[in-house]
Amino acid sequence: MIRPRFGILGTVALTAAVFVSASGRAAPDDPAGPYKPFKIADQLYYVGASDYSSYLIVTKAGLIVIDGGDKPVGPQVVANIKALGFDPRTIKILLNTHEHFDHAAGLAEVKRAAAPDVKFYASAADGAIVAAGGVGDPFLKGERFTYEPVKPDVIVKDGDTVSLGGMTLTAHITGGHTPGCTTWTFPVTVAGKTRQALDLCSASVLPGYKLGKTETYPGQTADYERSFATWKKLPCEVFIASHGQFFDLHEKRAKLDAGKADAFVDPAGCRAFVDRAEAHFRDELKKQNG
Ligand SMILES: [Zn+2]
Repeated sequence: MIRPRFGILGTVALTAAVFVSASGRAAPDDPAGPYKPFKIADQLYYVGASDYSSYLIVTKAGLIVIDGGDKPVGPQVVANIKALGFDPRTIKILLNTHEHFDHAAGLAEVKRAAAPDVKFYASAADGAIVAAGGVGDPFLKGERFTYEPVKPDVIVKDGDTVSLGGMTLTAHITGGHTPGCTTWTFPVTVAGKTRQALDLCSASVLPGYKLGKTETYPGQTADYERSFATWKKLPCEVFIASHGQFFDLHEKRAKLDAGKADAFVDPAGCRAFVDRAEAHFRDELKKQNG
């Protein structure tokens, strides 16, 4: 499928870059390709594409959606929510991990399908870029990375909470990959047990990012340092992230389908991911600064 706004090459190249730097495994052929939605935990469903993740959180007072994928994924997210038996018109809250097109370009479509009073919560730094349709990203320049803007209704700071119908999510500003990259944590129930879910924004150092003395944006190196410290401190039992490849979506899905109800409970995998990403960050920092 040709995606005129970004082009296959741009999308695949960027995804491959994100992937190589953070997970070391092969990226799916089409990261925006359709993927069958499914239940991860009692309150949590996967509604994203083959690699570009989106999540549905179900509460007594309506639905919460995290991330819209890129432009072709937006309608898939809406269709996936319907396929699971939920009404998109009850989406009350939209959240975002970060402003890159592969997580934010589909938000406008999800917002159109949502409740008229839906509220979009985002960090100050990334929210300003989503409000400008991707313009203002410190690294991804050019039209192929821009998209339909969505203006945040509420700006979240580090440690702020977002609540709906008995569910509370906490925002952790984990900058570096983008200035306002946001990791979301919240409790879910898996096989009758309460578990802490963590939707990791991204820890990737994209090829071309400058660290140390010269930076892609001022403060980027310190942001990564703080983010790694944060991720190592936060409970991460149900490990999910903005890309399926970060947490082995396809492998865990296969285990879940084979009857392993807690296939997504993976604190060791979460820690190993953070450690791998940090090692890559330190390698880059050293390479660029001697
Ligand atoms: Zn990104």
